[in-house]
Amino acid sequence: MISLRDVPLSGDKLTDWVFKQFIFFIRRETLYIKRKKRLLNPNDKHHCAIRGLMDPEFEPKIEITINSAKSVHANRNEEVETLIHELCHILFWKTQERSIWQTERILIKKFTKEQKDFLKSFIPHHEVKN
Ligand SMILES: [Zn+2]
Repeated sequence: MISLRDVPLSGDKLTDWVFKQFIFFIRRETLYIKRKKRLLNPNDKHHCAIRGLMDPEFEPKIEITINSAKSVHANRNEEVETLIHELCHILFWKTQERSIWQTERILIKKFTKEQKDFLKSFIPHHEVKN
């Protein structure tokens, strides 16, 4: 059972609604979060490094991969920003990249430190090879 009773709140209704949606997705057994050092854009022939990736390919299983390279994210606080971005892709399905990026920036300002720390607790510490 997914309980959303004990999650930290900001007091802003829309912010907290989005936060609860994120936690709901994260706690579902079909969402996986992993960290990987060499994360390249699969859709780009130049294979540039990317911050994160949300792969809905095996729906209902969804995988979020966060680039764990220090050159991409200096610390776990920066990794949380990418997790917020990838969760926006799930919540605001089919929304274009630019709007997702804008939403990410708004939420980073709106979420409290406790909310961001709570999200951080779901990012694994270990890295995977693939
Ligand atoms: Zn994106």
